[in-house]
Amino acid sequence: AESSEKHEFQAEVNRLMDIIINSLYTDKQVFLRELISNAADALEKARFHSVQDETFLGDTKDFEVKIEHDADAKTISIIDTGIGMSKADLINNLGTVAKSGTTNFLEAMAEGGDANLIGQFGVGFYSAFLVADKVSVTSKCNDDPVQHVWESSADASFTVVDDPRGNTLGRGTRVTLHLKEDAHDYLSEDKLKESAKKYSQFIQFPIYVKVKKEVDVEAEEDDDDDDKEDEDEEQKDHVETKDEEEKDEEDKKPKKKTVFEWEQVNTQKAIWLRAKEDVTEEEYNEFYKSISKDYLDPLAYTHFNAEGEIEFKSILFLPKKAPFDMMDNYWTKKSEVKLFVRRVLVAEKFDELLPRYLNFVRGVVDSDDLPLNVSREQLQQNKIMKVISKKLVRKVLELMKKLAKDEESGGDDEEEESEEKEEKEEKKEKKDEEGLWTKFWKEFNKNLKMGCYEDDSNRSKLSKLLRFYTTKSEGKEVSLDKYLDRMQESQESIYYMSGDSIETMKKAPSLQIFLKKDLEVLMLPDHLDEPCLQKLADYEGKKFVSIQKADVKLDETEEEKKRFTKIKDMYKPLTDWWKKKLTDLTESGAMKEAGVKVEKVEVSKRLTESPVVVVTSQFGYSAQQEKVMKSQAF
Ligand code: ADP
Ligand code: MG
Repeated sequence: AESSEKHEFQAEVNRLMDIIINSLYTDKQVFLRELISNAADALEKARFHSVQDETFLGDTKDFEVKIEHDADAKTISIIDTGIGMSKADLINNLGTVAKSGTTNFLEAMAEGGDANLIGQFGVGFYSAFLVADKVSVTSKCNDDPVQHVWESSADASFTVVDDPRGNTLGRGTRVTLHLKEDAHDYLSEDKLKESAKKYSQFIQFPIYVKVKKEVDVEAEEDDDDDDKEDEDEEQKDHVETKDEEEKDEEDKKPKKKTVFEWEQVNTQKAIWLRAKEDVTEEEYNEFYKSISKDYLDPLAYTHFNAEGEIEFKSILFLPKKAPFDMMDNYWTKKSEVKLFVRRVLVAEKFDELLPRYLNFVRGVVDSDDLPLNVSREQLQQNKIMKVISKKLVRKVLELMKKLAKDEESGGDDEEEESEEKEEKEEKKEKKDEEGLWTKFWKEFNKNLKMGCYEDDSNRSKLSKLLRFYTTKSEGKEVSLDKYLDRMQESQESIYYMSGDSIETMKKAPSLQIFLKKDLEVLMLPDHLDEPCLQKLADYEGKKFVSIQKADVKLDETEEEKKRFTKIKDMYKPLTDWWKKKLTDLTESGAMKEAGVKVEKVEVSKRLTESPVVVVTSQFGYSAQQEKVMKSQAF
């Protein structure tokens, strides 16, 4: 056609398509998950617009997804009545991708990941090429008077044409896959139905698969009656008759005819509206996967109805694995908890539901108290949102606390005496196994430390969840409560040190006296640790004290004190001389440039083997932390 335009794919898309087309990955059915999920996203958007503007729907009033196959043409089509795409949308959305998404997906694949991951990286559409060597996307949206067809055979280019058939869709999108030889099994009705069912369980819109039915003409009349009843029950099964056959009154043998029916494969009842007792673990897991695009089950979840001044229902999930870009995009990433108002999705990926440090939490919130046509700006100022947010944070922290507690009490159980030998062995095995909290902490500790730094109102709750290496923790990370348990009776402070690694910290001269006195010291290899402790200032009344700074107070006897004063006086000429010498040195050259200043030179109480140690003053960050902060924009 004259209006046909040829476009080159962005280089990243080409690389991506190459990999997908040549993928040896056998579980190809994920393409259906991705395309159904895109259809559902488009429907959510259309529903959202229709709430704001009642003329939006026009003649296309039903929100639905239909899936059909054509055995002769060897195609499958996924058709939705969603928001649709304009010509520009087709070119932008299906021709370019965010570079980071592709790069990260390709990396994950190179590291042995599989195509199942694709949805997480925002490039799910291209999974169509797992099963198809040619894909056509026909789309019509309200913003564009013309319906267009996008088409590509994955040969580095795609075309976009004005649809010569005119506007056949009303509004929405039809994705047609021309199946590759090895994907022809999707032309089987059963296979298609089974896969569609699998991925549509938690979708809020009806998903239909076109099925062929042989019915005898006699029975057809009953069928019609049934249909009426069904319609009353709002079970929309559309019936299309292919070949009308005349009814032969004389023939006793019932005549057969072929009809096509749209069979609904999902139930559409929102899982968060159901009673907790009625939802199985498996259903929670599948629901999580469907909203998160994660391929793993969640680590934990909480399902609750908030009651009181503001009522809402919610399910929140903690993932097993941190997203690949969690810390890179820490400052810009939005919360991905979806906000529904009376079952209509009104917002996702926005800041107001959860504080930044919890942006890995996934889930849904459904409130009847917010207006349906709430705008982004209104969300920002909304008092109801603030209340909801506060409750969500509390629930998430409670869930975390439970995981941490379960893990610790699991440890207590093991210490209990057990009569049966067999049982003992079983428990021992359990002990070696990592608890849920340990697993969670490994993935998300940086977020919780950031939370401890940023969230003034929940800092003390968060402090109970923190875990650190210590000089006595034997390579594990332990809670501050554990540290308190082991504290010496006269000990007033919680000692800590920071450094590049546990190994270098163990060798630090400043640690010697603490080892000698058997005082436990937290060892902090992560640059987020120290800011977090500084914000906390103390834990259960015990101050955090850096052993790498001057003035560390160690409890000592009167005799020790007297002895020390004597030594200090004796060495005064030496320390004075040294101070002057060092000060001269810092007034020129590299030391001056670096801004090094000598505060004082004094006799140390804490060295046992090394002759000298350089320390920073008790105020401000330690030398290690200053080094870190200079090297990166913390
Ligand atoms: P993601 O869904 O993560 O954004 P995809 O690669 O699956 O990434 O889809 C890319 C984009 O193409 C979507 O963000 C959307 O804008 C558009 N798109 C895909 N399918 C449809 C559809 N059925 N209706 C409307 N827009 C769609
Ligand atoms: Mg998608």
